[in-house]
Parts: sequence; C-alpha cells; structure tokens
Amino acid sequence: MTSGFSYFWQHNLSAFRTFHPHNEVMFMSIIDLRSDTITKPTDAMRQAMAGAEVGDDVYGEDPSINRLQERAAEMLGKEAGLLMASGTMSNLVAILSHCQRGDEVVMGDQAHIFWNESAGASALAGAQIRLVPNGPQGEIDPADLQAAIRPRGNVHMPPTTLVCLENTHNRCSGGVLTPQDTRAVADVAHAAGAKVHLDGARVFNAAVTLEVPAAELVRDVDDVSFCLSKALSCPVGSVLCGDRDFIDEALRWRKMVGGGMRQAGILAAAGLVALETMVDRLADDHANAGRLAHGLANIDGLSVDPDTIQTNIVIFDVDQSVGMASGLINALKEEDVLVSSPGPHSIRMVTHREVDSADIEDALARTAHAVGALRSSPGK
Ligand SMILES: *Cc1c(COP(=O)(O)O)cnc(C)c1O
Repeated sequence: MTSGFSYFWQHNLSAFRTFHPHNEVMFMSIIDLRSDTITKPTDAMRQAMAGAEVGDDVYGEDPSINRLQERAAEMLGKEAGLLMASGTMSNLVAILSHCQRGDEVVMGDQAHIFWNESAGASALAGAQIRLVPNGPQGEIDPADLQAAIRPRGNVHMPPTTLVCLENTHNRCSGGVLTPQDTRAVADVAHAAGAKVHLDGARVFNAAVTLEVPAAELVRDVDDVSFCLSKALSCPVGSVLCGDRDFIDEALRWRKMVGGGMRQAGILAAAGLVALETMVDRLADDHANAGRLAHGLANIDGLSVDPDTIQTNIVIFDVDQSVGMASGLINALKEEDVLVSSPGPHSIRMVTHREVDSADIEDALARTAHAVGALRSSPGK
C-alpha cells in the first residue's frame, strides 16, 4: 500500500522543483490566472453571511436580499434589482423578459452570450441571434447595428426587439465602452423600437477605469446585469437591474427557470459587503494587468499591445515559433501558472484579488521560461 507520505511526493513533486542553495525545499506556489471567478469570499463576507438576517425570498421576505437589490439598483441608477444565481441566468432572464419567440437579438460577434452561454437565447427564449462585428475594445459601430435592424411589418423577417452590449468586454481583453459608445448604440436601437440589455458582468471594472459612477455607464441601456462572483469575490450571484415593470416580468421568468431561491440572504449578505468594499480595489487588479501586459510584450514569441489593456483581462497571441496555445498552456501548468485560452493561438490571463504584484513578476518569469523552452525545442 502506498503510504500517505510517498503518495504526496509522487503527486506533488512539481511543486518542489525549485531548491534553495542550502538544499532546503522551497515551495513554488500556484499562480492562478484563469479567471477572477476563483476569488474566495473575504473574512468580512463570511462574517456577514454567518449573521445575515434571512427570510423566504419567493415571498419577498428576505431582508438581506431586499437590501442588496435596492443597493445594486441605486448604484446603477435603475428602479429595481433582482438577485440571480449567475450572470448566465441574468442574461437569459433579460432576453426572456424582453423577447417573444421568433424575435431577433443583435449582439457583437465576440459576445459572451453568443460564445459561452450554451445557446440559452435560442434554446429557451426561442430568439434568433444576429451578429455584428465587435471592435477591438468590444464596441459596436452604430452603422453596423443600423444595417442589421429588420424593417417592421415584413412577414418574412423576425422583428429586432433587443440589442445586447457587453462592458467590460471579456473576449475583447476586458475592453471598456464609454458612456458615449453606449449611447450611440442605444440611440439606434431605441429609434428602431428595440430595447438594450447590457451584459455588465464586470461593469464595475469599467467604472473604475473610466473613473465615473457605474450609473453613468448604464444610463442609456434599459437593463444591466453584473456579477458578484467575479472580481468582487462573492461565492455566488449576479444582480439584474432595470425599471420596475421589467423587473416584475423578470421575476416571473426567474421563477420559471428555477431561480426562485429561499433564504438566499446568506449570499446577498456577501454581495452587500462586496458593493461596499470590493469595488475601489479593482484598480489594483488593473494596475497588475498593466504590469503583466508590459512584461508579456517583452517576451519573444508573444504579442500584446499593453496600451490596449484597460481592466483586468490580458489576452495575447502566441506566435508560430512557440507552437499552439494549448502547448504553452501545458508548459505553463508545469510551471504552476494556470491560464485559459479563448482560441487556438491566444491565451487569457486575468488578474484578481488573490494575485499581487510579486505574483505578477513571478508569473512573467515562469512564462518567459516556458516560452523560451518551447521556442528552442525542435519537435514542438
Ligand atoms: C462570466 C460572464 C458571464 C456569465 O456569468 P456566470 O456567473 O459565470 O454565469 C456573462 N457575461 C460575461 C461578459 C462574463 O464575463
């Protein structure tokens, strides 16, 4: 039988590859840059959760949830908010609330809703997705939207009832939409009788970068969802905010998709702590992402323009000389650096509360080492 001790050594040797000059083992810690979703609740959150006042939220009787929904709506300048299990549920419920079966929803070709939400818009809302190009920061050209809008009253065509924006833009390396970018698109949508939903999973990152209140970023959209469970460090949750009628409609759809929770004030309590204590610190994540991008730009075989990095997501290209992104991901794993990949030749690194500037330097050194080894290995 394998003893616990030798099992440990067989399976954890890679963590002990660096040795101190005096033969003492030094622990090489894992640097996890896959996503800001890995952030764990803070001590203040755990305390708030333990002491949260709760009630049955399906009866509207959970005081912690009610407080979170009111606070979120206030911060976003909307009439009402609704706690959701996830950002995916918020986006789906927004589409269900705005659209009928057979409607068309226009969004950018890099939208999270299109790429990463299991086609809920088509499978569950019965809506058809129409794509227009996303610019480098995730923007949509109002002229492209105008051209995509369907004429009303033509029996051959689905009506365009919803336009979705994303801010910050995940697949566009955390790019930020300004209030002007948003307004230009919203004006075209509204003139055509369509509503605008903002997938604002990381909208507070955008607000911190632009140094404007989040409410200013979402003034021209009809509704907005944001995630508590990403850089804001909560264990679970997203809040959908909009006007009262929209939220009343969303409440019914949320119940239908199984999102009516009971004493979920335990989760809302963490959300309230997040809104009070986790927003301003996002600037640290952005500074670290800037450091990371500058360092990556100096590694031969990788390409990224650090000046385009606005928030906490750094997506960079992997040159032919290094091989496929999947090869570099495995090599980085050997170095205890965890990353994700949005495509065959690109890698995504996300900064968050659990990596500091020293970890960034460390991650850069390990990445340079992994890339150097791949470039010099012949049969890669
Ligand atoms: C993460 C994310 C979502 C989905 O949030 P989940 O809570 O993971 O379901 C939606 N939109 C964007 C832009 C995201 O980054």
